[in-house]
Amino acid sequence: MKRRGLVIAIDGTIGTGKTTTARQVAERLGYRHLDTGAMYRAVALAATRRGVGPEDEDALEALLATATIDLDSGRGRVLLDGQDISEAIRRPDITRRAGAYANVPLVRHSLVTQQQRLGQLGGVVAEGRDIAAVVFPDAELKIALVADLDERARRRHRELTDKGVCITLEQVRSDIQTRDREDAVRDYGGTSAANEIVEIDTTDMTLADQVDCVVALARQRGA
Ligand code: C5P
Repeated sequence: MKRRGLVIAIDGTIGTGKTTTARQVAERLGYRHLDTGAMYRAVALAATRRGVGPEDEDALEALLATATIDLDSGRGRVLLDGQDISEAIRRPDITRRAGAYANVPLVRHSLVTQQQRLGQLGGVVAEGRDIAAVVFPDAELKIALVADLDERARRRHRELTDKGVCITLEQVRSDIQTRDREDAVRDYGGTSAANEIVEIDTTDMTLADQVDCVVALARQRGA
């Protein structure tokens, strides 16, 4: 089958603008956006609604077999069984719970398989913590976005308050630190291809700068 373009894999710590950057790069290149974090969040939301905890593997397996998660890349929406959950998965309580479900091997296995299927023809900007090492180890372009903790907290706080979520900057900062620690110890499997990853420090960059930078790198590689 004919490939539709490159696979661009964007990793990055929380609050580095991974999702927005990936979405805008995808728009500029006419690629699809694959937000893998949204898939883990959708599982956390579905499980929370059904009262299934991360330790209940049988119930999680049943949930994965029956729940349908769709990423409507064109409109930037996430659907669970046809229902739009794009806003609900960004709520702070779901954000806090998502990591616990992402730690469950059967959840990871199921979602990684779906992601690989979605990206197999290329023409995709995929983002997530294991994207370069596990999901798309052969991606033509691998990026890691980093930024200072304080700057990440300010960005995320602004984003949440803009959406009408009442939360203090200090709480956002402490949630990010907790999630950084969880992400750092999670065993994603796979081999780290750190030498092939282009690291971009976004602390002093605007979003437009980040997008330009990734698009330029993609063009260099033939996008
Ligand atoms: O990136 P985002 O904040 O939306 O990710 C939601 C949760 O899913 C986080 O805890 C993150 O570490 C986890 N995750 C993961 N593997 C991915 C993407 C996200 O474990 N590929």
